[in-house]
Amino acid sequence: MINATQREPNPPHTGLLGWLGLGRAGAVAVHRTGDVSGTGRQAIVARIGAFLAEHDLEVTPANLAVAHGVVSGLNPRLERRIRRMEETGQRISQEWLRQAVAGQGADDRSIDLLAQRLEKGIDDFSRSTVKVRSTTQCYGDALESHMGELNARPDPGKVITDLAAFAGVMLERTRKAEASLQESEEEAAALRRNLELARRDADYDFLTGLPNRRAFESRLEEEIAAARAANEPLCVAFCDIDHFKRVNDTHGHEAGDRIICVVGKTLSDLSGERCHVARHGGEEFVVLLRGLALEDARDLLDGQRRALSERKLVNRRTEQAFGRITFSGGVADVFAYSDACDALAAADEALYEAKESGRNQIRAAGPRA
Ligand code: GH3
Ligand code: MG
Ligand code: MG
Repeated sequence: MINATQREPNPPHTGLLGWLGLGRAGAVAVHRTGDVSGTGRQAIVARIGAFLAEHDLEVTPANLAVAHGVVSGLNPRLERRIRRMEETGQRISQEWLRQAVAGQGADDRSIDLLAQRLEKGIDDFSRSTVKVRSTTQCYGDALESHMGELNARPDPGKVITDLAAFAGVMLERTRKAEASLQESEEEAAALRRNLELARRDADYDFLTGLPNRRAFESRLEEEIAAARAANEPLCVAFCDIDHFKRVNDTHGHEAGDRIICVVGKTLSDLSGERCHVARHGGEEFVVLLRGLALEDARDLLDGQRRALSERKLVNRRTEQAFGRITFSGGVADVFAYSDACDALAAADEALYEAKESGRNQIRAAGPRA
């Protein structure tokens, strides 16, 4: 069984990735301060090992990363889903795990790759700068010594000839160094532009255009700080499309994608300065509502739920009716829990209850047990 009570703290961001703020923001958002000792780390490693062994999962980088997210508390939703599977005696198969993590947030690899290229670009740039500087310094030193000789000699003819030849060589090399410096500067500027674009892409879900889980996690941190500062309530909600597999099975994956967009749009109609909607992954959305008490937040979401359930959606490619499309939600008061991790878990639990109670409803999380 998974025991997620002991959590590893967020590792410090090192190197350029940390400097550029490209580390996993979510890790900061949902992490608890915990045991950093060797024993704590050993316990996490042991739980990762036990998890993989118990479910007969291969020791692959992907599985290790998922298992780490689950046992360290970085991925509380998956943690709970797995716990439910375990509680009902179901095995976590590789296929189940693949589906469960599919679409969970942005793939950070591309941005990491780009950051590595930028790091290399900046290294090259620094090397060019050092080269130019040392070339200039070297010629400067030589010139200085020639100038000394020039002052000391009564017949400066030879020194002047040497000096002229030397200045010619120096000029040529400095120009080359300057050209390479400019090339490096242009390369670094292009990489910076690309990185900026990739950073933007990495925060948005390509299908719905909504912020993704990665962006949500840093937003959560910001909203917690803003709500605390203004002494306002803050609620978090998970919404999940009901029986979505049926949509895919009946109408195909592409039509399913369009339904995901419709639900995303229904929720994002609430978006504003104090309401943030993100696609958490797959057909699940997460909503942050600042300035509303739990019941008001629930009612607001319920209005969108009702509005969608009253619509008659038709597959425009086939003219076939989709039937009633609904979603369920669970909402929790962030400050009613000891940390964001527990609040997310409570919202998820409330979503689970909404599903269990017949779907097409929004449940508010009960008081902390
Ligand atoms: P429930 O009411 O219990 O939520 O039932 P469900 O059928 O919605 O169940 P579940 O949440 O387990 O299934 C979600 C399905 O969504 C599984 C997966 O194949 C599908 N899915 C995940 N991401 C996407 C996507 O980006 N596009 C499409 N079309 N389907 C997706
Ligand atoms: Mg789901
Ligand atoms: Mg669903």
